Amino acid sequence: MGRQLESIRNIGIVAHIDAGKTTLTERLLFFTKTSHRLGDVDRGTTVTDFDPEEQERGITIYSAAVSFRWRDVNVNLIDTPGHVDFTAEVERSLRVLDGAVVVFSAREGVEAQSETVWRQADRYGVPRIALVNKLDREGADFFGTVRQIEGRLAARPLVLQVPLGLGPPHVKDPFRGLVDLVEMELLTFPSKEEALAGAAGSAAVTRSAIPAELADVAATWREQLVSTLFDFSDELAELALAEAPIPGDVMRKAIRQATIARQVVPVLAGSALDCIGVQPVLDAIAWYLPSPADVPPVEGLDPATLDAKKDAKKGPPKAISRKADPKAPFCGLVFKIVAEKHGDLSFVRVYSGTLKAGSRAWNPLRQKKENIAQIWHVQADRREQVEQAEAGDIVGVIGPRSSITGDTLCDAGDPILLEQIQFPETVISMAIEPETSLERKKLGEVLEMMKRQDPTFRAVESEETGQTLISGMGELHLEVIRHRLERDFNLHCRVHEPRVSYKETLARAATVSGQINRQVGGQTLVATVTVRAEPTDEQGPVTVEQGWFPQDESTAAIAALMTQSVRESAERGGLKGCPLWAARIVVLESPLPDPPPSDVAIRMAAAEAIDRLLAEAGTVLLEPVMRVEVSVPEDHLGNVINDLQQRRAIITDTELRGGVNVLTAEAPLASMFGYSKREPGPRQLHDGPAEIRPRPGRNGRGVRVEKRAGNAPATVRSGRSYAATRPPDRYVRGATLRRRSGPAHAPSPDVRCGHPALRSLHAGCAPASMPPLAAEPGSRDTGSPSHVTW
Ligand code: GDP
Repeated sequence: MGRQLESIRNIGIVAHIDAGKTTLTERLLFFTKTSHRLGDVDRGTTVTDFDPEEQERGITIYSAAVSFRWRDVNVNLIDTPGHVDFTAEVERSLRVLDGAVVVFSAREGVEAQSETVWRQADRYGVPRIALVNKLDREGADFFGTVRQIEGRLAARPLVLQVPLGLGPPHVKDPFRGLVDLVEMELLTFPSKEEALAGAAGSAAVTRSAIPAELADVAATWREQLVSTLFDFSDELAELALAEAPIPGDVMRKAIRQATIARQVVPVLAGSALDCIGVQPVLDAIAWYLPSPADVPPVEGLDPATLDAKKDAKKGPPKAISRKADPKAPFCGLVFKIVAEKHGDLSFVRVYSGTLKAGSRAWNPLRQKKENIAQIWHVQADRREQVEQAEAGDIVGVIGPRSSITGDTLCDAGDPILLEQIQFPETVISMAIEPETSLERKKLGEVLEMMKRQDPTFRAVESEETGQTLISGMGELHLEVIRHRLERDFNLHCRVHEPRVSYKETLARAATVSGQINRQVGGQTLVATVTVRAEPTDEQGPVTVEQGWFPQDESTAAIAALMTQSVRESAERGGLKGCPLWAARIVVLESPLPDPPPSDVAIRMAAAEAIDRLLAEAGTVLLEPVMRVEVSVPEDHLGNVINDLQQRRAIITDTELRGGVNVLTAEAPLASMFGYSKREPGPRQLHDGPAEIRPRPGRNGRGVRVEKRAGNAPATVRSGRSYAATRPPDRYVRGATLRRRSGPAHAPSPDVRCGHPALRSLHAGCAPASMPPLAAEPGSRDTGSPSHVTW
């Protein structure tokens, strides 16, 4: 069975929640179903065995994979959730995809989550095409959305279609077709009813002459299209200069090149709901998005040179790359793990070589050989066992035990370490405790399993309080976890109010030494560890660097252990036990006792050094700040602005989009709890008929079901929609924390925060009695509105 790499498209559909991603996906599947096996799902199994949590809440949480065939191309489509709490799902999908379709609503334009996803796709170098959807809606603005794609996303939109009419059927000139600027023809589509009633694939697109009313607009946009493509095709440029007709194939080739080079973003128009413009999206996926053969070879590091990072003399680790060639040595990335009854199913994107069932693969990061017991081609609800997977494939593998999301699997004889997937830090925590102590062990095991599946979920058990602190990306995220505990594992937990995950950074730079000189069990422990530390502008966890590279081997080993011990101590958090953030610690040369210090003495001195550092430099609490978008009609604008200001939000932008005001604000996450939920919240602000929009449950065809009900983030009709927030762009400074005097307690290798009040806070979150923090977005260094001393 020949398998052409060029005929594969590994793509995702990404969008802000509600833009129409799921509707589009269903339509794509509908129009391709004759040529692939989806009919099975159709016949009798439309109620698929997807995650009940999704069905209940109507949101896509876990990406599902689904494949279809269009023209000569096999498309592997990864569905991704639109809600900000599940950004990690989008992140890991984008990491392994070769191309994406970004769906925008023509009414709302470019929304907050679209921007987030766009940035993620930029980070992973994913070529995109855009669909401006919902052109049948009142207030739809095609060219306005194109301008926003250019302005807000700093992209170069390449308009390939112009809509005929805009808006719903009752308006004078409703949306009813598209001008294809490549072939310069009008495309019209059978009505939704005709399309859905007809045999699949029979809903052919009708091509006709461009109506006179659109001739000028079409000519203008065609000219623009051709002139943009000049830079990408000499053949096209020559034809254009000679004023000769430019064949569609020449245009498409140039569009493909420019898209894959990420120089342009082809923009299509449509109404997924009314089945207008769906087939052209399929064409565009096949024509313009890259195959695994089109993307650059995957890059990684030679694991053998990794240790060199610690040793300045050996130079940086060696970069290596692998071509998408089935004959090359195997390498792949684990990008998702789903716990199943019979063990974990690890989703692997194969970048090079061939992975065979019954073989073993090497995980260079964990230094472990992994069993590749079975390989499966996985679709949303079905799977097919295969003997091998080749470069370009996305498969589920049963067997690996140590690999987690973001790990590389490769040929042991030819190892490579691919770049890991970056996940955002958790922003919200909630304490839970099992109702009976018998359930404690089970809870621990289940949470461990959930952590393996979800890299943005954390769980830490506090020995002192018996509580477990779970942390995630938002209220919905934690709620989904809690429901899973109850529903899937029959674990009933007492749940405390969610709290924001604060961080701490150093208030100022300091250089300190931690010294230990003690007799323990007849042994003398003597060591000194010196560190220099400073706050930085990096929005990330504290970094610990080795700044001392002794020549002789035994001293070098001591310096490395000092660095490692300082890192471990720093990871225990700041004065309040919140994770240390935006700070840099460098381990400096320290005097060595004779005989050389033992490992225990080094660890204790390192803990002491961090302890002294925190005491001397002091720390500043950092509070996560979200960017929020709120859509609100004119008559409620005042109320909503007042409410936002009371929540300490700073409004940074107001804009009129599709007839409603869109406020952009930066607000402390802590004061936005529940804001995007229906009740309480926005609804109480309005005396008008604030109607909540519940969406009927729909069953997908081989793809994740989406239905919005229950506690999903509110979208309030009557023109008000409270858009989801996105993860914090940054943390802003709050209270400065200081110990009253010197080291507050005797250093111990285990518990650095010796103060009893501190110990109870040690789980990485602020106390209930956290002093109010003044949030001043944009000014990281605004000083300290409140000083807390103890
Ligand atoms: P997702 O959250 O991006 O997956 O969006 P959905 O596909 O679930 O669609 C959100 C809502 O918009 C649903 O009520 C859809 O019926 C509706 N919708 C989707 N596409 C269109 C469209 O082209 N036109 C109109 N009028 N509504 C649409």
